[in-house]
Amino acid sequence: MNTSVIDIEQLGHVRRIWLARPQARNAQSQQMLDELDAAMKAAVEDVGTRVVLLGARGDHFSAGHDLKEAQLKRADFTVEERWAYEQLRYFDYCMRIWDLSKPTVVQVQGACVAGGFMLANMCDLVVASEDAYFSDPVTHSMGAVATEVLIHPWVMGLRKAKELLFTGGKLSAAEAKEIGLVNKVVPRDQLDGAALELAQRIAQAPPFAISLLKRSLNRSMDVQGMRDALSAHFDLHQLSHLSEEYQATRKAGLASVISKTKSEK
Ligand code: ZN
Repeated sequence: MNTSVIDIEQLGHVRRIWLARPQARNAQSQQMLDELDAAMKAAVEDVGTRVVLLGARGDHFSAGHDLKEAQLKRADFTVEERWAYEQLRYFDYCMRIWDLSKPTVVQVQGACVAGGFMLANMCDLVVASEDAYFSDPVTHSMGAVATEVLIHPWVMGLRKAKELLFTGGKLSAAEAKEIGLVNKVVPRDQLDGAALELAQRIAQAPPFAISLLKRSLNRSMDVQGMRDALSAHFDLHQLSHLSEEYQATRKAGLASVISKTKSEK
């Protein structure tokens, strides 16, 4: 069975893309990542689309990469296989969203964890509901060095990024707004409307000018070395997959991480 795990809607100039695996807390399977990348590409190619709005069905934005699938299909990956898989699907797919030539807005509810945190933070603007929380417990729970794209210090400041990553803790929507990680916080039942309203507002601007503006703003991060730092982290992240600490997790089974993470909540 190969049913789609992405829903796509067109609302005027806004292309709305939904992660649609709510029963798995939108855990990012290979299929979801491939479909999302294709959906982003299609949104860029569609001349009527000016803004991409990313959201997720159900109670949670995304619990991260699909560890059950990883255990099943990739537990015995060689260095070469893991590098290729993570380079394309975790790093390159993410950076394509960061580099998307059209502005992106993401709406976040519930869990925005690990690979979910990484994905949401590739978007230009973030609207969260009051129940949303942000976390990257990968170092604590798995012994791998954070997620593959270390976007954290660039979107939340070094001090808070260290706190979040060193403690493996959670940031509430209100705290995330306070430090500038999130643009706007609204009650859960207003999330869809508020995010769409923001996307539609951006869609009123001349699209070519907005595209150049985004390019310039992103370049302000590049000249500070963001891209090189992210690329260097990816390499260290791969190294950490080979450490004794990570191997212990791998032996216990990646699924054990899910139960560990859940019991901490
Ligand atoms: Zn990894």
